[in-house]
Amino acid sequence: MKPRFTPTGVVVVGGGMAGLSAASFLAREGVGVTLLEKAPILGGRAATRSFEGFSFNRGIHAIYTGGAASQVFKELDVTYGYGMPPKETFVLQKGALHPFPADPLGILRTGLLSAGDKAGLIRFVTALSLAKPHAVAHMSVQEWLKRHAQRPQVYRLMAAAARTLVYSSALELVSAQVFVERLQRSLKHPVHYVDGGWQTLVAALRDAAEQAGTRIVSGAHAQNVEHHEGLVRGVRLSDGTLIPASAVIIATKPQDALKLVEGGDHLPLRQVVDGLLPGQLACLDVALSSLPSSRYTVVQDLDHPQFMSVQSLYSHLAPEGGALIHTFKQLDPVHPTDPREDERELEALLDVAQPGWRDVLVRRQYLPRIEAVSTLPTAAQGGFAGRPGPEVPGFANLYMVGDWIGSEDFLVDASMASARQAAQILLRDGSLSRGKVAAGSRS
Ligand SMILES: Cc1cc2nc3c(=O)[nH]c(=O)nc-3n(C[C@H](O)[C@H](O)[C@H](O)COP(=O)(O)OP(=O)(O)OC[C@H]3O[C@@H](n4cnc5c(N)ncnc54)[C@H](O)[C@@H]3O)c2cc1C
Repeated sequence: MKPRFTPTGVVVVGGGMAGLSAASFLAREGVGVTLLEKAPILGGRAATRSFEGFSFNRGIHAIYTGGAASQVFKELDVTYGYGMPPKETFVLQKGALHPFPADPLGILRTGLLSAGDKAGLIRFVTALSLAKPHAVAHMSVQEWLKRHAQRPQVYRLMAAAARTLVYSSALELVSAQVFVERLQRSLKHPVHYVDGGWQTLVAALRDAAEQAGTRIVSGAHAQNVEHHEGLVRGVRLSDGTLIPASAVIIATKPQDALKLVEGGDHLPLRQVVDGLLPGQLACLDVALSSLPSSRYTVVQDLDHPQFMSVQSLYSHLAPEGGALIHTFKQLDPVHPTDPREDERELEALLDVAQPGWRDVLVRRQYLPRIEAVSTLPTAAQGGFAGRPGPEVPGFANLYMVGDWIGSEDFLVDASMASARQAAQILLRDGSLSRGKVAAGSRS
């Protein structure tokens, strides 16, 4: 039997990229939407902190264009300024830096690969161009690489690229679908470093949501989703206020979502959340008064799961003459490392690529265990298709969105794809009240 909805709007819990996107999609169709964010500022993991003209994202961030996020930005008329990484990057091997050009001719000229390796790389690129990402979803990145990058040096190069693209060093667990799709895409579509940091995207999404009529409440901690007989009736805030709703979208990380439903005791949701394997990074970002070396600006470490980029050379993230460098180490969820040791390794990477950085240091930000992705799509779970869908089991009108939801894409692309999907399900249902009436008015 079709559920009866109360004549109120939709409440979205969480003001990150997913929550803001879901709110915009609904509000611009005339649905009354209230978005609740517990933090004083919007953005979640996409927030940016400013310090003396430096824009610190929460660790290294880039838009991999050509995916769901790019589509959603277009659909919501969100635009932003950006720069792109250089064509020539470097790899660090046995303490020495070697140029590694991105274009095929340059690669054939590099001294990093023997003639046999170059032939091996051509075979790898051919296999990549023929691969269908969904067909390798049950295979791990490691298995796929072993099959298609048989020469040790080609394997080393591609494994390093894979760790950076899939945000994990657990290549034996992560589905090859993620790597193949990301690498195919990045060869066709540019990577964007966003001017002003990702807060620029958050502000543009907030404007889109508000212009469409969304009521955004920051500093509002949702404590509980109120429901009766499988039907959600609203959201209770930590101060006791009830925000009535005809449907609720939870746009938080999985553990926060779990707490919102029956205080964590909703078994089907607990089973979903317990099965997730988060992808964590150690991120060291340094703001410098000047850049020690303008040569080694993007470096991929072949011997350790590490990467460095001077994003401020290519986008507006630092004041005139200053530089903001991002480094990150891809962690293994199954084999934890010592955060202090991770930090020292990232410092050592900076010592090689940007010697003298300590003398011009203005500020540093170290995020030892930040969750870059709420769940790594694994080979065992069949890649993207193994993630839960947006409908919360046991409820007619409760949905979840985020980077752990839906079978489309990865990272922020998954957050925004699932936001669009949940909004489409709600709009198709047709029982929502339109005309922006009673958009979750407080009672
Ligand atoms: C270091 C790092 C690097 C990354 N690099 C990239 C990259 O290069 N490219 C890319 O595409 N993606 C990248 N990502 C991922 C990207 O940042 C995330 O996918 C995206 O920001 C997630 O958005 P979200 O809205 O799904 O979740 P979140 O950003 O986690 O938002 C959830 C929001 O819910 C709020 N909330 C939680 N509980 C409650 C509650 N009870 N009541 C009210 N509000 C609540 C939180 O405060 C938060 O604002 C990176 C992430 C990290 C951390």
